[in-house]
Amino acid sequence: MDLIQVMEMFPDQEACIAHLERLRWKGSPQCPHCESTSVKRRNENAMGRIGRWNCHDCHSTFKRTSGTIFQGTKIALQKGFLAISLMTNAKKSLSSCQLARDLGMKQKAAWRPMMRIRAEMGKDNVLGQGIIEADETYIGGKRRKDYDKEKGVPRKRGRGTAKDAVIGAVARGGKVVAELVSDMTGETIADFIKRGVNTEDAKLYTDQFKGDNDIGKEMEHETINRSEKWEADGVHTNTIEGFWSFVKRAWYGSHHHYSTGYTPLSLAEACYKDNYRGTNIFDKFRTESME
Ligand SMILES: [Zn+2]
Repeated sequence: MDLIQVMEMFPDQEACIAHLERLRWKGSPQCPHCESTSVKRRNENAMGRIGRWNCHDCHSTFKRTSGTIFQGTKIALQKGFLAISLMTNAKKSLSSCQLARDLGMKQKAAWRPMMRIRAEMGKDNVLGQGIIEADETYIGGKRRKDYDKEKGVPRKRGRGTAKDAVIGAVARGGKVVAELVSDMTGETIADFIKRGVNTEDAKLYTDQFKGDNDIGKEMEHETINRSEKWEADGVHTNTIEGFWSFVKRAWYGSHHHYSTGYTPLSLAEACYKDNYRGTNIFDKFRTESME
């Protein structure tokens, strides 16, 4: 959705709130404290009290933004919605400085909602079943680093910063998930796969990467030796490889200063964009995250 469409759909605070209310309550508003449906929206419009509700049973008041990623942020909801749109539309990862410039706010004010939006994107992490391709990669850092195959940990070279080890999996014709890992041992890989994949109904394709034999005991698993050929009888990892290129272009295009702290959120953003390309994100985007 482009910015014009966002502005048209959500022209003001009122329209944003109405959207959040629709998503949340689907037509029947409820008190978050006592679950009573005997609630009424206040009409007052001054002093930012818009969006507040009264509960006739427990006599509490609540806001629609309570329990959403916008809870406690001071930015106008429309800016929050525009931020989601700008972030999902950006080919590369957007910096908070850029977002602040685009939305006419200070960098510090843009940073927090941006991190929350990314964190929310990261909650979408189930792959399901079918053919799953899994692979590892390394991102960030300033120099190439070696990988200690025996210990399963990154090995620093010279004064260079070690890169982050990242593991990812994609369901063919479906979603992709990826996360930062502290090592590439068989245990870590198996844990990652089992969290995102229904091992009974899925078939795993990997390169012959370190430690992946553990998972082979728990599900159907085939490997391809990429140093010999890219594909054999449909067994390949080209889809996840393509995703790594996307992640790296986004990463190196916008992060001039490397920091491991942002890697998980950057990955979450890349996965989300890949998974929801061309869909109406405002119907999908889960704003219930803080509950
Ligand atoms: Zn109540």
